[in-house]
Amino acid sequence: MEHRPSFFKKADIFLAIALLLLGFGTLALLKSGQKDGSFARVTVDGTLYGTYRLDEDRTVGIETPYGRNVLRVEGGKAFMQEADCPNHDCVEKGAVSKTGQIILCLPHKLAVTIVNEGEEAPDAISY
Ligand SMILES: [Zn+2]
Repeated sequence: MEHRPSFFKKADIFLAIALLLLGFGTLALLKSGQKDGSFARVTVDGTLYGTYRLDEDRTVGIETPYGRNVLRVEGGKAFMQEADCPNHDCVEKGAVSKTGQIILCLPHKLAVTIVNEGEEAPDAISY
């Protein structure tokens, strides 16, 4: 008959839970934007306007029914270079480059979200 002190069993379970939590914690950290994104996805009024690679420097003029924005992609980051919105929150937001980061221009109902390869269907990418 096997006799194992219950202390070790408890310790094993504790260790397993600790490792599990650590794993989830790391995952949550990655999900919360520690990863470099691959694309800037622009939506206007919830509709996809375009998806732009972050590894290609470019300037994107975005015409919305509410106003005009100029998105600049440079050195793996995206930022709002110009906007004719009243508050300029989007311009002041600065550069984003990590997955999940968002630039919002509320007056223009515009959102720039940093996404990763694989999260974006190839047919949704416009060049
Ligand atoms: Zn704005």
